[in-house]
Amino acid sequence: MSGTSAPTGDGLAAGFDSLPLPVAQLQNLQDMGYAQMTPVQALSLPPALQGRDLIAQAKTGSGKTAAFGIALLQRLNPRDFGTQALVLCPTRELATQVATQLRKLARYLANIKVVILSGGQPLGPQIASLEHGAHVVVATPGRLRDHLQKQTVNLARVNTLVLDEADRMLDMGFADDIEFILGHTPASRQTLLFSATFPADIVNLSSRYQREALQVSVESTHDAHSIEQRFYCLGETPDEERRAAAVVKLLQHWQPEASVVFCNTRQATMDIARHLRQHDLPALALHGELEQRERDQILVQFRNGSVPFLAATDVAARGLDIEALPLVINAELPRDLDVYTHRIGRTGRAGQQGIAASLFFENERFRVDALRERDAATAGASIQAIGQVQGKSANAPAHRMQTLDIGGGRKNKLRPGDILGALTAEQRIPASAIGRIDILEHASYVAIAEDWVDTALQLLEQRRIKAQKFKIRRLGSPGRRQP
Ligand code: ADP
Ligand code: MG
Repeated sequence: MSGTSAPTGDGLAAGFDSLPLPVAQLQNLQDMGYAQMTPVQALSLPPALQGRDLIAQAKTGSGKTAAFGIALLQRLNPRDFGTQALVLCPTRELATQVATQLRKLARYLANIKVVILSGGQPLGPQIASLEHGAHVVVATPGRLRDHLQKQTVNLARVNTLVLDEADRMLDMGFADDIEFILGHTPASRQTLLFSATFPADIVNLSSRYQREALQVSVESTHDAHSIEQRFYCLGETPDEERRAAAVVKLLQHWQPEASVVFCNTRQATMDIARHLRQHDLPALALHGELEQRERDQILVQFRNGSVPFLAATDVAARGLDIEALPLVINAELPRDLDVYTHRIGRTGRAGQQGIAASLFFENERFRVDALRERDAATAGASIQAIGQVQGKSANAPAHRMQTLDIGGGRKNKLRPGDILGALTAEQRIPASAIGRIDILEHASYVAIAEDWVDTALQLLEQRRIKAQKFKIRRLGSPGRRQP
């Protein structure tokens, strides 16, 4: 590694027009609402566009996708349908998120194909889309390895390789897969490594697979002011009931639109989610032992607002594609200090103020001390006894949503417009009562304002959608009806 850690983003505000980019891309970025580079983009894009290897550190939400995306697109030859760029991501959700952003960034080029190869999906359609050529492959390591072993993908002409969230990929045990994949790419490639943290194994990975990588680092303190960190002491004797009650109290106090409550164990996620539901706070547990379908349904309900609260383990929350949360709660402090940074990075994004509230019992105070020793922003955080917090009486939000599960998806050629059309055809449901529509491979989900759910169920059960009859089901409405 060479180069120095750059200072904070202050004073780095720069337009994309300072970069050697075609006018069409500058226009595209403007259309996307990207007026100025974020700090990590301002530091990464000039060397990346020159073809240098980079090892870049910046927190979640800092704009890393465009930092590598704009660069890799510039090197593509649209007329060559061979795979020229490869992005590795830790999870399916992240791969989807990255691919979506790349497609937008690529709108200034005609016919650029971005193919997602991620686990939990059937291989057949992935193989079929590869046969039509893929300029860019966005993949999770395990699944890409499968494709390489089946020789259904060829990486021999990759000129840009991106390791996104490299630290998470290593945490998830993808080190071997990554090595295997790297061995199938040309040594002449440009390698861009992005990571929220720089532990020793990342530095090691960089030294083995990168050439004179320039280190770019956006100090986490740059954004720290937009995250208000607070610690709440729950007392002397650890008591899980008290911990769950404190989470309820904080949610009632801050009344966030949505929140993720981080827990260290699967059991804790389930206990806390149940406790929240008992207090009329719609919540579900997100942990690593869910089936893919259950996980999909939970994430859909969280994103469309019908379940605003998740109690999650770190592994399960990885790759959660969520916008800035107004509040994150650490029901328990993590054992690993870097995990704390990653958790609180879920709030206070894009300049919005967010609150990171952490709960601890006296016997866990050493963790608070360790955090405060490490980071100035954390050292300045307030520590309060939970008893000082006013738990407001919960005003139930006026418009609660519920989710209907429609037993058909992309495979049945369903599009959001088809579902919207079926719901509004008879004009019995106002458009304002219909929320987000998600179409997955084999199922679709639509959020409906609670008061209209019964009508919507009736309508969809009676009608055909795209001349097909589908099974319609209301997803469990946690918080209200389940004790
Ligand atoms: P990261 O990978 O660092 O967590 P993302 O690349 O997903 O962050 O970007 C976070 C959000 O910021 C996205 O919604 C993205 O569209 C937006 N964004 C990225 N760059 C810019 C920019 N220069 N101006 C405005 N918004 C941006
Ligand atoms: Mg990212």
